[in-house]
Amino acid sequence: MAPKRIAEAQADEAEIENQRAVVTERAAMDRQRTDEIENVLDADRETLLERCSLDEPPGDVVEDREAWDEAIDELADTGEQSMADAMAAKVDTLRERVERGYPSLLRLRFRPEEPFEFVPGQYARISYEEEEPRVYSIASSPNRDEIELCVRRVPGGELTPDLCERASEGDDLFLRGPYGDEFMLQDPSERDLVFVATGTGAAPFKSMIDYTFEEGRDEFEGRERDIWLIVGSSWKDDLPYREEFLELADENPNFHPVFTCSREEYLGDWDGETEYVQHTLLKYLAPGCVDTDSLPPDVAEFVGSETNTDIEARIDPKNAEVYVCGIGAMCESVREVVEPLGVPDLYYEEESYG
Ligand SMILES: Cc1cc2nc3c(=O)[nH]c(=O)nc-3n(C[C@H](O)[C@H](O)[C@H](O)COP(=O)(O)OP(=O)(O)OC[C@H]3O[C@@H](n4cnc5c(N)ncnc54)[C@H](O)[C@@H]3O)c2cc1C
Repeated sequence: MAPKRIAEAQADEAEIENQRAVVTERAAMDRQRTDEIENVLDADRETLLERCSLDEPPGDVVEDREAWDEAIDELADTGEQSMADAMAAKVDTLRERVERGYPSLLRLRFRPEEPFEFVPGQYARISYEEEEPRVYSIASSPNRDEIELCVRRVPGGELTPDLCERASEGDDLFLRGPYGDEFMLQDPSERDLVFVATGTGAAPFKSMIDYTFEEGRDEFEGRERDIWLIVGSSWKDDLPYREEFLELADENPNFHPVFTCSREEYLGDWDGETEYVQHTLLKYLAPGCVDTDSLPPDVAEFVGSETNTDIEARIDPKNAEVYVCGIGAMCESVREVVEPLGVPDLYYEEESYG
């Protein structure tokens, strides 16, 4: 286990407790985007009408699946294989988005009966109605009276579909925790902070970042620290707390949120980053701070490449502490990129969700 820089007393204060809590808010963070998707597909319908011998264009992307497949096959037969491949990939992606349950990303807030002490980064176990308990990173700052979680729907899951569809204000929950003494906001240092997440991995960082600014931890011995957040998801509305983070950046010029979306371009107006989070991190490195020969060739090309934001600050890995949270494969990819940058273990924290 990597040595820790957190005051042990702070973690010890947060003893594991059982208690009841009452739901005060359940709100979708994502949007229902079916109409938007159908509108975007009108351009593809026109293309198919122009190039194929159709009486009418394919209709609804879910209901009229067969007609879409046949029309795209016919487009390929006209010699437009690459256009057909691109359209097939787009239509599949957009269909998948229409078919997913709504909401799929939830803000769940509740008020514990008694004050619930925790350190930013820790998680809580909740149980709802008859379901098996599950654990969730706490997204709210410990300075708040209410606890907030950011929950992603897992189709076919025991708990999350119910939370997404049925939980409502006034419902009782059982709350147990806090858990997790491996992944916590460490004591302030002179280093800048770099948080890297995908999806709901941003939840513990909401807690850590809010707490950092509330407590003035964005300064150390009179020097301002830069606070970076790099979050990735497929869609813009799957980036948890994007609006809140952007507002915080307006108030604090030393906070630099960078969002990267792999699929949003299909819907038109995305001008942010589109690469994996680990490649996005490399784009924002300070010039000359890394020997690109120490990186695998397929990632070295991202170092210092053009960014899609107007952020002028850059990350110096020799002066950074890095926190990473999300699915296991992503954490591994980020670690592979961060290790050669020379961030010591003492300043590297990671939590993977499996
Ligand atoms: C430390 C920690 C913190 C966590 N924090 C969060 C958080 O902040 N927000 C959040 O939404 N989740 C978080 N999780 C995941 C959460 O604990 C549950 O596993 C998840 O919500 C699924 O619960 P479920 O009952 O709906 O599905 P289950 O009934 O547990 O699972 C159904 C099936 O889906 C698979 N599965 C489980 N989770 C996922 C997943 N994420 N993606 C794809 N397949 C999956 C299971 O292997 C199983 O086969 C965290 C997990 C850990 C260990």
